This record gives sequence, structure tokens and C-alpha cells, in this order.
Amino acid sequence: MVGWTIPHPKVPEKTKKEFEKEREEKVKWLTQEGFLKSKGIIKAMLKVPREEFVPEQYRDYAYHELPFPLPGRDATISCPHSYPLFYEALGLKAGEKLFEVGTGSGYGAALAREIVGPDGRVVTIEIDEETYNFARRNMKRLDYDDVFLIHGDGSLGYAPDAPYDKICITATCPEIPRPLIHQLAIQGRLMAPVGSPERAQDLILIEQDKDGTLRRKFIEKVLYVPLKGKHGWSD
Ligand code: SAH
Repeated sequence: MVGWTIPHPKVPEKTKKEFEKEREEKVKWLTQEGFLKSKGIIKAMLKVPREEFVPEQYRDYAYHELPFPLPGRDATISCPHSYPLFYEALGLKAGEKLFEVGTGSGYGAALAREIVGPDGRVVTIEIDEETYNFARRNMKRLDYDDVFLIHGDGSLGYAPDAPYDKICITATCPEIPRPLIHQLAIQGRLMAPVGSPERAQDLILIEQDKDGTLRRKFIEKVLYVPLKGKHGWSD
């Protein structure tokens, strides 16, 4: 993994109470640092237990500002701050339909489910079978059965549920995949890292106007694993 030092794997020792406290402190820090702003996203981050989505050997570090490797190839659970970074810029809110490319651990999908609420919908797709099974087990254990999980190539989007109010791609793309732009709703927003997996990438926000015009905005430099599949870096 480029750019991070991951602590040594260990047998988890922390209690539920300790994790809860760390979660509250993390939310406080994310708010102070300006990553977290809206009530719906704050509430979701306070509710979803990130430690349940981190592989056991790294569980005690769940609230460190670090990504951790997941079962599967080139899959990581992103740093805690990257979730509000995406969801605040997307303006994700209750009642919306979100499409996530790269389910990973399922943590981002669970947070999104809490944010969009019962009137919204979360569709998420994972290309690696082992990672997909890891996410599926996590979602089942935590009762997120209403998140629609797909095993497949997200660079093609998922047409049956389109258009989507919001789309997030959590792997770095050579360019924003065309099919995903086509599956974006009018006035919808899409967020994705664009650039080589070998170096820092540009986190890009695309906004579609009422008349279909696309506006592109650079958010910041980020580090993500490569997008695979037809419109990714490798098949
Ligand atoms: N959102 C995740 C982070 C995922 S890391 C979380 O919260 O844990 C990026 C993931 O994208 C990896 O699991 C990788 O296997 C997956 N991925 C890469 N290319 C993909 C593609 N074309 N379609 C779907 N998933 C893809």
C-alpha cells in the first residue's frame, strides 16, 4: 500500500464501550477538522460501528486515521475521514438513491444506508468475490439487509436501478467511466478519484445541471486502490 504504515496485526482486546467512546471522539475530531458538517451524516457516523467492518487482526485500530487491508485482492477499508469527505461533497441526504462502486468492507454502504434512510436506496457493487463475501457477511450480521449488494463490474454501472441521485466510486479510475455518467440523474452528483494508482490522485466531483451540462470540480489529492473492469486499469 502506498503512503501508509499499517500497525501490526493483533488479537483484538477493546470492549464495545471503548469502541463507542473512540467513535464519539472520532466524530468530534472530524467535525472540528471541518470534514463533518451535516446532521444526517454525523448521526450515521455515530451509529455505524466501524470496528465491525475492520478485519479482526486490525479491529483495535478501527478509529485510527488509516485504511486497512480487507480479504480479497487490492481491497481496503478507507480512512475514517474519507467517508464524510465523499458524502458531504455529494450532499447525500434522506430519500436519495446512491450507487457505490467498490463495496469493500460494506462500511461506506452502511453509513449511506443510515443517511438516505427508509425512503432512500443504496446499491453497491464489488468486483472481487472474496471481498464481496466479506461485505455480505458484515451487512447480514449488522442487519443491513436492505442494502442492495451486487457482485460484478461497477465500471459498467448498474442500469436496472438507474438513474442515481448520487454515485461514488471508491477506487481510482483512468477517467470517469462513461456508463456511470449516463446513469447519473439530472442535478445528480458523482465523486471519484481519477489518476494512476501509482501516485496521488485527483478526487473529482461531477455535477450535472438541469440541462444535462456536466461541471467538474477538483476536491483534493487522495490515494485509492485501482478500479478494475472494463473502464478500469485492468480487466
Ligand atoms: N468503500 C469501501 C472501500 C473499498 S476499496 C469501504 O468502505 O470499505 C475499493 C474496492 O473497489 C475494492 O474492494 C475493489 O475490489 C473494488 N473494485 C475495484 N474495481 C471495481 C469494479 N470495477 N467494480 C466493483 N468494485 C471494484
